Amino acid sequence: MKKLYFFTTLLFTFFFFYQTHTFASANSRETYEKTGHVFWDVNTKEKLVALTFDDGPHPVFTPQILDILAKYDAKATFFVAGNKVIRFPDVLKREVKEGHEIANHTFHHLHHNMTAEKLSAELEKTDTIIKKFTGFKPSLYRPVGGIYNDVIINTAIKNRKEVVLWSWNQDPRDWANPSAGQICNYVTKGIKPGNIILFHDWHGSEYTQNCQTVHALDNILEFLYKNGYKCVTVSELLYRSTQLIPDSFGIYPVKKAKTSHIDLIF
Ligand SMILES: [Zn+2]
Repeated sequence: MKKLYFFTTLLFTFFFFYQTHTFASANSRETYEKTGHVFWDVNTKEKLVALTFDDGPHPVFTPQILDILAKYDAKATFFVAGNKVIRFPDVLKREVKEGHEIANHTFHHLHHNMTAEKLSAELEKTDTIIKKFTGFKPSLYRPVGGIYNDVIINTAIKNRKEVVLWSWNQDPRDWANPSAGQICNYVTKGIKPGNIILFHDWHGSEYTQNCQTVHALDNILEFLYKNGYKCVTVSELLYRSTQLIPDSFGIYPVKKAKTSHIDLIF
């Protein structure tokens, strides 16, 4: 009996901890998509795709990526980490100068036990450092590790960010260092208009010299352009989409109010 009491207490303690501390509740992709501020794909009939690069800027790989993009006049979106921007601001400036989009990927690239306060501070700090070097604040944000839940989505919307994940068929897991051929095949085999493709421009350390993503990129771009695709920034893809995107923020989750006033629940 004592044993049963012990295990029941343990179970309740676990569930209490689980509910209140470990994980914020998460809704389905469809629920978040309905807010109009969270995107995995974009609906478009035009042959447009968005290449995205996370975790940089990297002093070696990002300039190599920029060279290849320039060769095809392709535009991309860089989801930068604030602590890398501080170290390599000239690479960030080059991204902007060459017509690419800069987006917020937090400052420290942390994703454990994320609270609203912590995420707001991370977003703000990264916005400030990006603004310092480019003159503007980004409007897009990608959660670290692609992890999303109510706290993350609410906080992002409250901070006036569009949340950009990636197409489920477009994660070649380049961080795990597959060959350039594997990355290229993965991306090109199922490509569709409106896809958002996930790459990383930061691999290893700042001293790492070899990157399979860089080796794959030329062939991917050659395939895309031969097949009539154009690479645009995520913002341009959203702008040219056939989805209805609300232009006001603060709609998730909506409290059913009797008046026309909309309140956010945080
Ligand atoms: Zn990342």
